Formats: sequence, C-alpha cells, structure tokens
Amino acid sequence: AFEKNTTVVVFGASGDLAKKKTFPALFGLFREGYLDPSTRIIGYARSALSQEELQERIAPHLATPKGDADAAKIPLFWKMLSYVHGPYDTDEGFTKLNSHIAELETQRGVTTSHRLYYLALPPSVFLTVAANIKKVLYDPRGLTRVIVEKPFGHDLKSARALQAQLAPLFKEEELFRIDHYLGKELVKNLLVLRFGNQFLNASWNKDNIQSIQISFKEPFGTEGRGGYFDSIGIIRDVMQNHLLQILTLLTMERPASFDPESIRDEKVKVLKSMAPIDHDDILVGQYGKSLDGTKPSYLDDETVTPGSKCITFAAMSFKIQNERWEGVPIIMRAGKALNEGKVEIRLQYKAVASGVFNNIPNNELVIRVQPDPAVYMKFNAKTPGLSNATQVTDLDLTYSLRYKDFWIPEAYEVLIRDALLGNHSNFVRDDELDVSWKLFTPLLNYLEGPDAPQPEIYPYGARGPAGLIDYLTKHNYVMYSKKNNYTWPVTSPE
Ligand code: NAP
Ligand code: NAP
Repeated sequence: AFEKNTTVVVFGASGDLAKKKTFPALFGLFREGYLDPSTRIIGYARSALSQEELQERIAPHLATPKGDADAAKIPLFWKMLSYVHGPYDTDEGFTKLNSHIAELETQRGVTTSHRLYYLALPPSVFLTVAANIKKVLYDPRGLTRVIVEKPFGHDLKSARALQAQLAPLFKEEELFRIDHYLGKELVKNLLVLRFGNQFLNASWNKDNIQSIQISFKEPFGTEGRGGYFDSIGIIRDVMQNHLLQILTLLTMERPASFDPESIRDEKVKVLKSMAPIDHDDILVGQYGKSLDGTKPSYLDDETVTPGSKCITFAAMSFKIQNERWEGVPIIMRAGKALNEGKVEIRLQYKAVASGVFNNIPNNELVIRVQPDPAVYMKFNAKTPGLSNATQVTDLDLTYSLRYKDFWIPEAYEVLIRDALLGNHSNFVRDDELDVSWKLFTPLLNYLEGPDAPQPEIYPYGARGPAGLIDYLTKHNYVMYSKKNNYTWPVTSPE
C-alpha cells in the first residue's frame, strides 16, 4: 500500500538532517519493504557532489539491524538514488532537476508523476525553494506533497507571514509539517492507550488525576554549537512544538474517528481551551559549570553571546479550561545538561479515601517516550508473604521485553511513509500551528523583553534549578518514591 513510481526529491541533500535522518529513513523503509523499488530518490543542493561523495556521506548513518541481509540492500538503494546540484534561487537548477525527473520517469514508463519534495533546508532559503517547486516542478498529472521541517516561524507574526507566503503556493493537503515527535511509537500510541482502554478512559479527568508532567531531559549542553540555540532557547526548541504535541494528544477529547482531520480538529479545540500561560508561574534556568568543574557552563560555549540570558531549562504550567481538566495543573518541563536523558509523561492520580490506609502512595501512570519506550502504572499491593504492609509495585509494559521481535520504526520512517500515503494525522495543521504560537508568543516576548527574569543557574548534571521540587509540589505533585523505597527492578527484601 504505497505509491508506486513516486519521485522523492530531497532539497538540502548535502546537509546534516538529510544525511542523518532523511536518507536513512528512506533506506529504512526500503529495507523493510515499505518503499517500492520503483521509487526514485533525488538529492538536490548547491554543493557539487559526485554520486559517490553523496553515498559516502550517507552510508555511515544507514541502519542494518539484520546484518549482512540488510547490508545487501544498500547497493540496491543506491540504484534508486541520484544527485543533481544547482542553485536554490534561479530557474536554471530547477529546470535541470525537472528534466532529470522526467528522464527517470521515461525510463520507467511512468505517465502519472507523483512527487514528494522534502525540504531539508535552513529557513532562509525555504520559501525561495517552495516558490521554485511551484513554478518549475509542479506537475498537475500527479500528486504533489511537500514535507517541511521546523522551525515554522519564530513567533506568531513570523509564523503567520510564512504561512501567508506558502498558502498561495500549496494547498494545505499538499503540505506536511513535520514534528518528528508525532512519529515516535509511544506518542502514536497515546490515542489507543487513552481511548482503547476503558479503565484509563474513564479515569482520564479532573476527578481522578491531580497532576500531569510532561518532561524532556537532555544530559548534554550545547557543546560548542550554542550559536543556533542562543536565539531559540529551550521553549522554541522543544516545548512549543514537540511537548505541546504530546500535551494536546494527551488531553484532547475523543475524535469522531481516527481520520486525520477529526484528530486534528480535536487537537485545535483543546489548544483553544488553554488559558494564557501565567508569566509569574514559570521556572527558568540556565546551566552553569558542573559541581566538579569538569563540564562547562552555557556561557563558556564560545558560540553563545556573552552574558546571554538564554533559557536552557524551563518549567511551566498549563491550565485547560474545560469540564475534563479544570483545576488540573499540567506541567511541562524541559532542560539541557541535566542528570539524565529522557522524555516521559507522568500522570499522578488522586489519593484514595483516608482511613484504612496511612499515607498510601498515589497511583502514577508513566509513559516513557524515550529512551527504552515503556508504559508503567505504579500501584499498591500487599507486600508478598506474611506481611500485611502495602508496597508500591507496577504494571509494566517495557517494549524491549514485551515486543522483542518487532521492528519499531524511527520517527522519520513513520512520517515519510505517512506522507507517501498522503496521511496527515501525524503532521501539524496550519490552524494548529497558529494557536500554538498564540499561546507561546506572549510568554516568549516576556522572557526576551526588558522585564525578563534572570534565569536561575543550575549545575550541569543537576535535575534542574533548585526550585524544581517546590514547583512540582506547588502544582499538586506529591513525591512519594523515596519514602517508599520504590526500586526497579523489584528485589526480594533479603
Ligand atoms: P544544514 O545542514 O545547515 O543545511 C542543509 C543544506 O542547505 C546545506 O548542506 C547547504 O547545502 C544548504 N544551506 C545551508 N545554509 C545555507 C544558506 N545560508 N543558504 C543556502 N543554502 C544553505 O541544515 P540541517 O541541519 O540539515 O537542517 C535542515 C532543516 O531541518 C532546518 O530547517 C533545521 O531547522 C531542520 N531540522 C534539522 C535537524 C537536524 O538534526 N539537523 C533536526 C530537526 C530539524 P548546499 O550548500 O550544498 O546547497
Ligand atoms: P521516581 O524516581 O520515583 O520519580 C518520580 C518523579 O519524581 C519524577 O518526575 C522525578 O523527576 C521526580 N523526582 C524524584 N526525585 C526528585 C527530586 N529529588 N527532585 C525533583 N524531582 C524529583 O521515578 P519513577 O519513574 O516513578 O520510578 C522509579 C524508578 O523505577 C525509575 O528508575 C524508573 O525508571 C523505574 N521503573 C522502570 C520501569 C520500566 O522500565 N518499565 C517500570 C517501573 C519503574 P525526574 O523525572 O526528573 O527524575
């Protein structure tokens, strides 16, 4: 079930994203039998690379989980690949590219020309290329699909300007805005977990859940590449896009069907129910040197503006003003240079009625997106044996243990395949983008304006700024684990 004879053009083919993600994802799909051999893949960029040079760049990033059997598919993949170089801003290169596409189509006897354009380009050339695709490459005989990468603007104004320039070129159904978090297995699973399980579905509300955390933790800093990050900050980098996508899927109402527009309608609706983010209720930080002095501070990165107030950690709380979520604090937190790397969702349930139990821990459902995907529910049980004491244990679905022989595709593999199939469920719609920028822009203006708070310095390798525990507690999260000596994996008392 895929489009045969499609031509995939990767613009910016000489770049980082193309070699690390786009081409390897195309290879992964081919390797697993999800990219028809009639597909042709053309790299396009200004650099005058030979076919061999392009292959040399990509090859180290191709995954071959089944060893030689997979490696044997690489030469077949190269046969599908070619490269054209030329400028982004004149017709000349595009005309050459168009002739190349036509030549490959003639070789295959193709008359319906389906084309997927992947824009792995910096934002500065993005519109120029989009305009030239429309002008020179657009072929009404077949389907046109354009995959675009973040950033989709820098704030509400620039996002709207970008959209206003793109809209006359491509219909919304031709555009696929990638947020690669939407291709992650556990993010894709959210709707099934929520709506396919009555015990979760029934308790997914303010009557049962007292706090939600969506956390992104990275164990490294900018490591000499802070120049890019300095004008972006952690909020634009992961919160306004990736974590907000998780948040909407986690809190939206049940869609009428799993049809892409039904899902995206519900996402937009819940975004519109969110109260403005309270500027006085955020925790912002920037990493300093590690406590042992071996790891540099953010400001030690020479590519960063001296004295920069750029935020490398933020925790903020969302309020959804509807019947389901009124009063439930939803904390989003993200940081670089922390004690570990992980992305997870944590829902803490309300306490059971008092009386029988003395301070028994609340249930918690944890959905770990990465690393090592897992879903576990922390719940209480009697300590095994003669004891009548209670103990926290867990219902555990760790993917690596449960689904040993499954191929779990990379996010980019999932999304490129969806785009080839024309499925928009896991892509960001224009109105969704608009509401998300509306929500975040006032906060960003404040944090980057004259009254911006000074970010709290936290040591490289810490969990975050010192105020984090208080922040979580203030937002209804009850920290139990240490008191109950909950460990993983469970070991017998002796
Ligand atoms: P990149 O390597 O800097 O650029 C891709 C290619 O575009 C370069 O090889 C270069 O090719 C061309 N290019 C670079 N700067 C240019 C300029 N100023 N004017 C004209 N052409 C220029 O970028 P990337 O890291 O691959 O990222 C591409 C897009 O994906 C960006 O929008 C980025 O935000 C997004 N993205 C990247 C990643 C990642 O992991 N890298 C992750 C998520 C999103 P030629 O000189 O050969 O034409
Ligand atoms: P936990 O260590 O009990 O932490 C629970 C929450 O409290 C997390 O949000 C944690 O933040 C926060 N927290 C804990 N101590 C804190 C402190 N000193 N300051 C600020 N925040 C603090 O984690 P858990 O996930 O509930 O479970 C405990 C262990 O069991 C974990 O290692 C977990 O991986 C493991 N486990 C694994 C599986 C599985 O792999 N399937 C199943 C069950 C349990 P942070 O997120 O920043 O740590």
